[in-house]
Amino acid sequence: MIVLKTSRELELMREAGRISHLALMAGVKAVRPGATTMDINRAVHDVILSFGATPSFLGYGGFPAAACVSVNEEVIHGIPSKHRKIREGDIVSIDTGAIYKGFHGDNAFTVAAGTASDQCRELMEVTQHCLELAIRAAQPGNRLGDIGSAVEQYARSHGFGVVQEYVGHGIGTEMHQEPEVPNFGKAGHGLRLRPGMTLAIEPMINMKGDGVCQDKKDGWTIRTASGLPSAHFENTVAITENGPVILTRP
Ligand code: MG
Repeated sequence: MIVLKTSRELELMREAGRISHLALMAGVKAVRPGATTMDINRAVHDVILSFGATPSFLGYGGFPAAACVSVNEEVIHGIPSKHRKIREGDIVSIDTGAIYKGFHGDNAFTVAAGTASDQCRELMEVTQHCLELAIRAAQPGNRLGDIGSAVEQYARSHGFGVVQEYVGHGIGTEMHQEPEVPNFGKAGHGLRLRPGMTLAIEPMINMKGDGVCQDKKDGWTIRTASGLPSAHFENTVAITENGPVILTRP
């Protein structure tokens, strides 16, 4: 079932989104050569708690931290560790969310530690632009396929791969609600977007190939099949009469 949010509920989601954004930016600021992925998680976690909010990810399906921190060929769901040190030139994807008064925010950002390669910089820029294009396509009356198509076309025009197995999602009183929001699809096809829908839109773009695989040991980390880097950007977006509104941005 797709839950449409009232304006009062959207106000609470805006606050959850604002906290999620500030937590994510604290994580981004903590990315530097020599920092551990646990240092990044701690920065995120502290901000969420400072607003009296609850980390959405902590304990979700047994996930042990407030943020997913995924380095280079890790696409999503990297588990923070005090033993994992960030190195110069790594690209680091941080994904986090906060629950505020029962409503969730969810957002992600990829950033380089020091100076990344030209290829990695292009990958990050293209993925971020995929998200912008996807949000622009999230107009009332448009369809889910318009969002997926916007991401896929732009990523593929740069020769990059598009992750198919993991997708964006509806969000509200739970982190994952209907509908699924794929990063691929046909323009003009799929569910029609209506005011009151809130979607977590999150392109995951690989430097090469669409394929990914899950770490068998930790049961969480998703890596590219190619072993080459991947980038991930995400915002929580409300569909309104006046167009898309990004809730995880001040
Ligand atoms: Mg998400």
